[in-house]
Order: sequence, then structure tokens, then C-alpha cells
Amino acid sequence: MAATSDSTLPAVKRSPMSYKTLLVIYLAMVLLPWVLSYFEGLAVRGWYEELVSFLSIIGLSMMLFQFALNARVDSLAGRAGVDNTMRVHTKFGEYLGYLILLHPFLIVLPRFIVAPSFALDDVWDLFIQPETSTGMYAWSLMLVWVLMSVFKEKTGLSYEAWRYAHSAGFIAIIILATHHAVTIGRHGRYNAWFDVMWIFLCIIAVALVLYIYFIRPLAIAKKPFKVVDCHKGSANDWYLTIAKDGDFNFDFVAGQFTWLSTSKSVFSRSEHPFSIASSPSALPQISYVIRELGDYTSQLGKLKPGQHIWLDGPHGVFTLNARNAKGIVLLAGGAGIGPIMGILRELGDRSDSRPVRLIYGNRTIEQMMFLEEFDTLQSKLDLQLHLVLEQPPKNFEGHKGFIDTQVISRAIDHPEHDCWDFYICGPPIMVKAVAKNLQKLSISNDRILYEQLGF
Ligand SMILES: Cc1cc2nc3c(=O)[nH]c(=O)nc-3n(C[C@H](O)[C@H](O)[C@H](O)COP(=O)(O)OP(=O)(O)OC[C@H]3O[C@@H](n4cnc5c(N)ncnc54)[C@H](O)[C@@H]3O)c2cc1C
Repeated sequence: MAATSDSTLPAVKRSPMSYKTLLVIYLAMVLLPWVLSYFEGLAVRGWYEELVSFLSIIGLSMMLFQFALNARVDSLAGRAGVDNTMRVHTKFGEYLGYLILLHPFLIVLPRFIVAPSFALDDVWDLFIQPETSTGMYAWSLMLVWVLMSVFKEKTGLSYEAWRYAHSAGFIAIIILATHHAVTIGRHGRYNAWFDVMWIFLCIIAVALVLYIYFIRPLAIAKKPFKVVDCHKGSANDWYLTIAKDGDFNFDFVAGQFTWLSTSKSVFSRSEHPFSIASSPSALPQISYVIRELGDYTSQLGKLKPGQHIWLDGPHGVFTLNARNAKGIVLLAGGAGIGPIMGILRELGDRSDSRPVRLIYGNRTIEQMMFLEEFDTLQSKLDLQLHLVLEQPPKNFEGHKGFIDTQVISRAIDHPEHDCWDFYICGPPIMVKAVAKNLQKLSISNDRILYEQLGF
């Protein structure tokens, strides 16, 4: 078996940015307008006014930065991983919601303390006075749109309809909020450049949405794919294979994901993210493991060979690249076997000599995929397989229950396991539980990489 080091893995186009680095950049960008406001030389007021001013500036810049996080632009999402940028988008979107919803109340709070009977009138005035009304319209829309995001699953809207509404609503909110900031903001009143900055950032935010809806599809249309085959790979999963439909460059690294759209028009936003289950050596073909879950995934059996399919990607940093692990532990739950299989196949293609441990969990034996291929891979790799079933059949020799510390401890019983990397993929709830189990076993966070099948 050839010894394999990271240098033999596919070239990394850029070194992926860690989640922590992304958070630092995010906080720096969000704080920048407030830091700049200090160079304006305005007199410092009481601590409460300064706090409200700080929160207002932070709120607007967070709102504007939400658009950059969502835009799948290479300079940010390409480096940090679109899954990570989406995670920050979702997490900080919630904090932003609280911040903005508190905003008018923070402004009138001193009145509530000094003259409570007039304070509610003051809130009402904020709605009707021309100089504050756009802010209050933005605030009201924000209230509805934040609730729509928090209760996304309960709105009854399809994901696509929800997404259109989300984009359109937030464009309206950002325009109204920017108008509010430049009308009423104290900093812009003294220094016009502060207002120019907000307007400029607002234009960029709107342009990023137009980019996603109109410019990016044009690039996707230049690289069409077609369906090769779609069959049931397990009781609940499809195994979809597509291929390039033309002569163009396309490459990816095992473990990445793409958005797929089977709509007629490339401009349709009906697209779903799925991780690639094949290794790059299978190109021009690409395969996916897709679990039947809802409207879209349960209709995949209707796909016809030759039918065209649009692909946006590859995205994501759930890969072997730029790592120096002495061993690899792959932990898959359900359809999470997709990218894990991509990585395993890649290791097999390279006859990697490092210890590889696969812990693969499902509810029932009928949901297990690739059992024969694992046997073949065992002849190429130092691969140990640990199957886990919640509802095992009689005579099942694997582990019963979940991917717990017991089965993980067995799999990593090796003197060098401190220098191994751990790749987790599955539904968010499974990823969180397994990551917790790894932490209980004192596995360093730096050694854990994960992909959740959901943002
Ligand atoms: C990075 C990433 C990689 C993924 N890889 C795989 C994979 O390899 N195999 C697999 O089976 N599943 C994967 N998923 C999950 C998959 O995208 C959803 O299961 C699928 O989109 C569900 O669509 P549906 O209409 O059938 O189900 P629905 O019942 O409509 O949706 C179920 C849930 O999936 C999410 N979802 C639905 N549509 C979208 C969308 N267009 N974009 C983002 N999320 C959506 C929503 O949270 C929704 O609540 C991945 C998700 C992400 C974020």
C-alpha cells in the first residue's frame, strides 16, 4: 500500500477559512461602522445614549452583512464554506431580530421610567412622524419576517416560496432601514460620508440579491448536467447519478456539496443542496445519496435519463484537504453516508495507508447502503466498519442503539487516535449528539469536522 500524505490529495484551490476566523471577520465587519463613527469627533453623550447608538449602528451593519453571508460569493462563502456562512447567517439573524425589535423600546425606555403614561404615545408617534415612520415600517416588517424565519416549518409555505418571501421582505426592510438611518441618524447629520456609507452598503446588499437571482444562474447555465440514473439505493434513499452535458471544466473535492435544480428554467430558485457521494475519479459522472423526506425528494423517481439538471457548486469544506491527520474516523447517520462515501472512495482511489474507521448508523437494516462496497474497500484500506442500528434484526452483529461513546471508543482504540480526524455527517440532531459524544471522549474540537444536512 502506498503511503499517503496530504500532499497527494487534490490541490486545495484556497486554504479553507475556519469557522472561528469567519466569526472574527464577521464581528470586525459588523463593528467597523461603529468604530468609524468614533472618528467623526462628535461629543460623547451619556452612557445610555451611546449604548443605544452603538446597538443601532451594529443592528444596521448586521442586517447589511446578512446579505453578504447569503450570497455564495467566492471571496467569502468560497473560503469559509457556504455551510459555515449560512450557519452564521441563521444564528446571527436571530440575534439581529432581537436587537432590532428592541430598538424603538430602547429609545423610549427613559420615558417609560420618567413618564410612563406618555411613553406609549411616544412609541405611537414613532410610527406616525414622517422622519421616523420608515424605521417603524422596517421594524414592523422585521417582526413578521423574523417570526416567519423562526417558524419556517410551521408557515405551511414550501421552502422555495419561503425563500422568495425571505429575500423580497428583507430587501424592503433594508431599504426602509437605510432610509431611516440616513434621515434620523445623528452621525450622518454632522458628516455626510456616514450616510453615503449606509447607502453604498445598502446598494451592495440589494446587488448581491440580484446577483443570486439573475447573474449566478447565467454562469450555472454554461455548465449543464444531465440525469444518468436514479434508483432506490435503500428503503428510503435514492442513488442519483448525473453527468456533464458538454465539454467544460468541472472539478470538486470529495465531501463537498452542490445545489441541484431539475427546473426547466435556470432562473428558478427551486434548488436543493445535496452532498456528492462519488469521488472525483468518477467524473464526468457525479452521484448523490438522497433521503426521501418531503415534496422534492419523494419525487426523484420521476427523473428520466437524459433530463437536464442544473448544478450550483461545488461548495463546502467538509474535505480531507489541508489536514495532517494520522487516521480518519468517519461517522455517518442516514443520508450522511453520501459525503462520507465520497471521502471513503477518495481514500480508496489513493490506497491511503492510514487507519480509517467508519461508524455508520441508521434506524433499520433496510436503510443501510454500500455494504458490498465496504467489503471491497476493506481490501484496499485499513478500514474497520462499525454498523449501528436503532432497530436491529435478530442476529445483527453490530452495535444496537445510537452512535454513542461506547461504539466510538471501540472504533478509536488505537495509541495514536489523538492525531486522528473525525468527520461527522447526518441530520443536525445526530451531528450535535455525536459531536457531544466525541467531546465526552476528550477529542479536541480542532479534530472534529462536520456537515449537517440542513442549515
Ligand atoms: C449542505 C447540505 C448538504 C445536504 N446533503 C444532503 C444529502 O447528501 N442527502 C440528503 O438526502 N439530504 C441532504 N441535505 C438535505 C436536503 O437538502 C433536504 O433534505 C432536502 O432539500 C429536502 O427537500 P424536500 O422538499 O424533499 O423536503 P421538505 O420536507 O420540503 O424539507 C425538509 C427540510 O429540508 C430543508 N430544505 C428543504 N428544501 C431546502 C432547500 N432548497 N435548501 C436548503 N434546505 C432545504 C428544510 O430545512 C426543510 O425543513 C443537505 C442539506 C444541506 C444544507
